[in-house]
Amino acid sequence: MKPSTQALRRPSGPPEAANRRSQGRKPTPASHHHPLQLELFGQTHPGLPRGRQDTQPVPRPSVVPHPDAPRLELQRALNRLTGGRLASLVLTDNRRTILTVKAGRPGDRSQLCLRIHRSFVGAPPEALEAVAAFLESRKGSDRSRAALAVIRQHFHQHHPERRTRQTTLRPEGTMYDLREIVADLNRRYFGDRLAVGVTWGRSSGGAAHHCRRRRTSSLQLGSYSYEERLIRLHGVLDQPTIPRFVIEAIIFHELLHADMPPVVRHGRRYVHTPEFRRREREYRHLDKANRWIQEHLPELLRARAKASPRRRRA
Ligand SMILES: [Zn+2]
Repeated sequence: MKPSTQALRRPSGPPEAANRRSQGRKPTPASHHHPLQLELFGQTHPGLPRGRQDTQPVPRPSVVPHPDAPRLELQRALNRLTGGRLASLVLTDNRRTILTVKAGRPGDRSQLCLRIHRSFVGAPPEALEAVAAFLESRKGSDRSRAALAVIRQHFHQHHPERRTRQTTLRPEGTMYDLREIVADLNRRYFGDRLAVGVTWGRSSGGAAHHCRRRRTSSLQLGSYSYEERLIRLHGVLDQPTIPRFVIEAIIFHELLHADMPPVVRHGRRYVHTPEFRRREREYRHLDKANRWIQEHLPELLRARAKASPRRRRA
């Protein structure tokens, strides 16, 4: 395996080793070859043009942020927290893997190489402290798991997927306009404070941070995506035979997720807390809706089977 420092070094960036050495110290002579860069990382101005005349306006070098500056800032922040153990840091756009860490040299964990999602650039102190705690804790330990929970939470709230992935919202069905139902429930139960999207469609793929508990047998009726702030209802529910209170009960459940962030305890995320279940009962037709779903599940599954094949994954 190639060390990440070699695999992903940017050609325009400063050599990582040199940068590590210069951390927290005065610029080394070698750094003077790159005066523009220095200005970004220190207070000194070693690169003023020579032979400058006071009367003549001198074209000043325009200082643009070096593309590597955010990465180095993150590396410095983590090195402050770990006592300088981070030999290299690579930012990734990986959506599935938040971070990977390996020993700087085989068998030597005093120095670490970290690859981490770029959503941790500019992250709040508690997220960075969690990353540092994760780096320094034993795999599988309580401390490691607690840190990972905070890391995951930060990632799910900040990774850019929700801004880059375009989701076409289709709230208007043939029977129900979901926007109208969401607006009604939001007003009646949440004082209009929730800002969430809603759409008909299958649930989106993959991620574990969706509420999936509305999955009944093999049919997921509704889901809530924390990072998209989006409720999805299965298209099979858009039929005249489905009572409105069933739609409402499912949407109410997902709205509760929007109102109640997951609770992190002992390194695990809990979404259906006792408090969640208590509040769920505020919807007055909850029992009736659950009974209806249980009784009509075979019909729903048949309807799903008749729908387009892509619904199979729902
Ligand atoms: Zn749920």
